[in-house]
Parts: sequence; structure tokens; C-alpha cells
Amino acid sequence: MSKISRRDFLKLAGLASLGMVVPPSVQQKSQQLQNDKKNVLIIVFDALTAYNISLHGYARETTPNLARLSKRATVFHNHYAGGNYTTPGTASLLTGTLPWTHRAIRFNDGVKNDFAAKSIFHAFDDYHRIAYSHNTLVNTLFKQFISDISEHVPQEDLFLFNDGFIRTVFGNDEDTATVSWARTVKRTEGFSYSLFLSQLYEAYRDNKVKDVSKLYPNGLPSVNNDNYFTLDQSIDTLASRLTEIPQPFMGYFHFLPPHYPYKPHKDFAGAFTGDSFKSLSKPEDIFSEGRSDEFLDKQRAPYDEFILNADHEFARLFEMLESSGILENTWLIFTSDHGELFERGIWTHSTAALYQPVVRVPLLIFEPGNSTGRDVYEATSAIDLMPTLLHLTGHEIPSWVEGSILPPYVTSPLPPNKGVFAVQARYNEPTFPITQVSAMHIQDNYKLIYYLGYEEFGAEKERFLLYDIKSDPEELNDLSQTNREIGSDLLNIIKQKLDESNKPYL
Ligand SMILES: [Zn+2]
Repeated sequence: MSKISRRDFLKLAGLASLGMVVPPSVQQKSQQLQNDKKNVLIIVFDALTAYNISLHGYARETTPNLARLSKRATVFHNHYAGGNYTTPGTASLLTGTLPWTHRAIRFNDGVKNDFAAKSIFHAFDDYHRIAYSHNTLVNTLFKQFISDISEHVPQEDLFLFNDGFIRTVFGNDEDTATVSWARTVKRTEGFSYSLFLSQLYEAYRDNKVKDVSKLYPNGLPSVNNDNYFTLDQSIDTLASRLTEIPQPFMGYFHFLPPHYPYKPHKDFAGAFTGDSFKSLSKPEDIFSEGRSDEFLDKQRAPYDEFILNADHEFARLFEMLESSGILENTWLIFTSDHGELFERGIWTHSTAALYQPVVRVPLLIFEPGNSTGRDVYEATSAIDLMPTLLHLTGHEIPSWVEGSILPPYVTSPLPPNKGVFAVQARYNEPTFPITQVSAMHIQDNYKLIYYLGYEEFGAEKERFLLYDIKSDPEELNDLSQTNREIGSDLLNIIKQKLDESNKPYL
């Protein structure tokens, strides 16, 4: 026991018990698939709403490349994130469960303990599993799943000036790499060397990024202030790594663009600024942050330009995968963890409101070697991706997964009244019942938004909104008073789901 680590031991123990329970027929089947196993590569662009994607009808042409490539993909036109920001949205992608189940609901929290072994990385345990994210919140989740990740590329490996300076000055404290340099230096104020250190650092940084800075008129893309990166370099590095790792692989790459701060490359910066685009003015919401339409439009333009930048880089990645031959043998996924909102006085996605731009995200699935496209218009969820990929690669779908195999790939009829849900529960203790929540429920044309526990709604502290998103995709006509029957049907289901998810914590 002393010669092997605890983790190795657990791995061996896990393998041994699997061998005992897997019936011989399944073992044979999996051996047959061994030679024919396709890779899986999930590409996530953070905070990319379907609302601002021209492929999905947005007036600005933000995704010319995606539109071209979509002719070779299965395109999901009504696809929804599981949550409204990175932690819950990504955890839903990675576990195939909704936030009220996996409980990664608070900022920078992880999933509940037993979910550490219930990730997509765990389910692909016969694959080489490689993971990268610019986003610190995603790395928090990776750390929980680490015993099932073969290769976690450190976040700072793709920062522009991560070449040992951090370790030289601060020793081996890996946390310093994940917070901003400015804050690190600030934290050391009070020490006699802090001024010297910050000057040394600034000179070093400016020199390192001098040339590349010229390519970014709004400033260099960054994580937590000044951990600079460029999307093209990140994609180059990871695409080249894919040619070196063992196959089959399951890759999960989560890039920060077009997440704020919106800093497109000079080839895209300014592309939409001052154009004739007119955003639709909507009534101020009860959760309004008081942002004017003018302010929101000013933010929207560089965001759209950052999408244009991401669209270009995704196409470049696609071409690299194609020319290296990897695409031929890989299920390639394009999606996002949640959306972004520029309406009703609200900006970004840290809001209780669950309007379409926050929750509706792109999903494109490129089949290995396929060159024809198809379209899916049914409502689908981020939690459906993991079971679909497991199904497509001949893996068993674990019983705790809440999602279902996506429509074009499912062999048996979909369960009736499946419904699509998204959950915002940021200000709850993960191990207590959720008492303040925004939850979305979509059934056919109807979308219900249920708010519970908010002071904004007075003594009852709850309210629901109902939209026919097919005839009213901009959600301007609330039907909660006129269509009470449908509203209460959808409401009862969502309340029941919430009660069930709270049971273990009562
Ligand atoms: Zn995010």
C-alpha cells in the first residue's frame, strides 16, 4: 500500500470492481468497438448567446464561418444551457444534470461531493481525457474531476507571459497563477519589496506583450485583469497537442471569448461599431440594473465583434482538425455554457432574469467524416449532450444522468413531456434546500419562468411569466394571466422538480 498512491489504489479498486460486474457480452461488445472508437472534442465559447448569432437569425452577420460549416453539422436551433453563468452551466454540461441536482450553484463553487466521480471524464474512462479552460471557474470544476482527467492543461499555460516568472518570484504557489498579477502584487503591499516588485512586473509584462498588444485595439484579452491570452495562440497550442495525444481522446476545451471584457482582434474590432443595426427596445424588467438602451448598445457592438473573432478562430480550428485528419475520426461539438443579455436594463448574465439571451445557446454537432447537415428545432438541453456522446461512442449512460439522447440520434421514442429546464440559484447554500431560485421550463411552444424567494415580488415572493416563444420569440407578451391553465401545468411540474431536488437537504 505504501508504494502506490491513494489515487492509484482507488483507480485499481475501481477497475477490479468493474471487471466483476460487467457481463461478458458487454465486455465483448466494448472490445469490438475498441478499434473503431471515435474521438470526442467539445469546444465551448463562454457566454455565447444564440440570440446574437446570425446563423440563428441575428441581424448582424456575427457567424459567417459557422453558417458555412453548419452545412456539415447537425444544428440545434432551440438549445438551452442548464444555468445562467459559468459554474452551473458548465457543471450541467460536464455531469448531464441540472444545477438543482449537481449543486454547483454558488460563484466558484464545485459540484456536490458525490458528483466528483459523476462527470463526463469519468464516463469516458477508457479514453485519453484532455481538458483546458481560460476560465478560473471551470478550472475549479476540473480540480474536482481531476482523478478522471488524463491531462489537465494548466490555465496559465496559455497565458502570454507564463514562462517561469511566476514560479521564480513566488515559488510554487500555484494559486498565484490563477489570480491576477495586479492583485497578487497588491496583496503584498506592506512588504518593502512590493513597489519594486510591481515595477519589475509591469516592465516585464509590457515588454512581453508589446508586439501582440498592437493587434488588439480594445486591449489584450485577459482573465482576471492581466493574465493575457490570445484566442489564436490558445487554439494553435491545443490543436497541435491533439495531434500528439493517444486516441481515442475526449477533449473539453473551454475558451473565454466572447465573455466580457470584449476584446476582439483588430481584424474584427470596429466591424459593427456605428453600423445601422437597431436593437429592439424592451420594457425595463423588475430585475433591471438601470442600464440605458444606449449603454447596452455600446456594449453589444464589441461583444458581437468578439463573436465574429471566435467564429473566425473556430473555423481555423476546424480546418486544422480537417487537414490533420482528426476530424474524420472525431465527434466535434460547438456550444456555450450560457448566454449574455443586453436588454430590459440588464447587462451580461449575473442576473435573476432568465430571458432567452441568457439561456439559449448554440449547439452544433459535427459527425465524424460527415459532410451533410441537418436541423433540429425541438427544444434541447445542455444536459442532453453528455448522454448523446456516450451513446454515439458505445458507452453506457450512467443512471444518474438526467438528460436524454438528442433527437436525431435517439433510437427509441422520446419520453413524453420531457421539458427543458434551466436553473439560477446563486444565493443558496448548496447543502440546504434551495429557497431563492429562478427556474425555466420549456414545453413545446411555451416557456415558463418561475421566480421564488425574491423580495422584488413583495409578500408572496414569487411570480411566474409565460411566453409563447414560437410566436413571440422576443418575450414581449406575458401570457401568465391569460393562459392560466398552461401556466399552472408548467408551474406544477417545476415546483415538483424543485421539491424533489430539495428532499435530500431537508
Ligand atoms: Zn461562462
